[in-house]
Amino acid sequence: MTEDGSSEGEEPPSTFDLDVEAIIEEVNGRDAELVALQLPEGLKRRAHYLATRIEKATGAVVIVSADPCYGACDLLDDQLEPLGVDMVVHIGHTLLGDAPPRLPTVFVEAPSRLDVRPAVEAAVPLLPPGGTIGLLTTTQHRHAIKDAEAVLEEAGLRTAIGEGGRRLAFPGQVLGCDLSAARSVADSVDAFLLVGGGRFHGVGVALAFQRTVVVADVEMGTANRVDEERDRILRLRSAAIGRAKDARTFGILVESRPGQQRWALARSLRTMLQESGLQPVLVLMKDVGPDRLFSLGMDAYVNTACPRIAVDDQSAYPVPVLTPQEVRILLGKETWGDYRLDEIG
Ligand code: SF4
Repeated sequence: MTEDGSSEGEEPPSTFDLDVEAIIEEVNGRDAELVALQLPEGLKRRAHYLATRIEKATGAVVIVSADPCYGACDLLDDQLEPLGVDMVVHIGHTLLGDAPPRLPTVFVEAPSRLDVRPAVEAAVPLLPPGGTIGLLTTTQHRHAIKDAEAVLEEAGLRTAIGEGGRRLAFPGQVLGCDLSAARSVADSVDAFLLVGGGRFHGVGVALAFQRTVVVADVEMGTANRVDEERDRILRLRSAAIGRAKDARTFGILVESRPGQQRWALARSLRTMLQESGLQPVLVLMKDVGPDRLFSLGMDAYVNTACPRIAVDDQSAYPVPVLTPQEVRILLGKETWGDYRLDEIG
């Protein structure tokens, strides 16, 4: 037996489906000899099983990426090309249309096996009676959006599912860096229901659109409004801006990966800070983290990489890490009243 309870060669237990036969077909169809496998943290324990199944069924050699993978922005083209990798199997995320991979890449979704209905039923009493509800979800639950819609309609609610921009792969999708599907229906809904869990997405929607937002946590089978979490995050962000008022030296963090790279924005922030008499430098970084910022020793940082970094982990950073909009608020170019979370899309 292995640590996770599976026997050698057996698939480890999981609440996510993976269509292994479809992966094998793709590898065979492309005559790939060297295949890279990239999985999010929650599925990494399936790496050994998947790699050996693919190798046995196709004759290809598989190399597994053990680096963290938080989204389809985490592409490894630069590392994999020199190895001669023929194709990449990227699991659990959908293609970002504005940041396509250079290497041939198959995006394989990992749909959750959990029933969304108990969580959506728990959400109904928290939503405005008879109202129109904007339905949002993550990749893992996209197949169940119809189930969620049916529960809401049975409860006398109307639903609206928005189309997003190029970064999104399906209607109603929400990413931590892209709320465009929510934005497309925001004017016609009374509230949003986010099916899937994840406080960050819900708070982003609540701040952007001033609507009631309920998160249906499918794993727990429960539902919660995000008001308290939104207020907590606002307090933390306001404190970070306050602490940055004494900062003179700023590092503007730029990600090297195309899906998180906002070079033009970083350059314009540098100009803006210079014009305000401050001392910014551009900092290229992969996987922004507290230790590295500590080593650089600047007074404050501005994050142009994944928007979650500044907001989710601020307490772990030794100094303020601001979003681009927070810098504009700091410099008096925008007001706190228009506060919203950062987006790339
Ligand atoms: S930039 Fe951040 S929120 Fe957007 S896909 Fe990447 S990891 Fe997710």
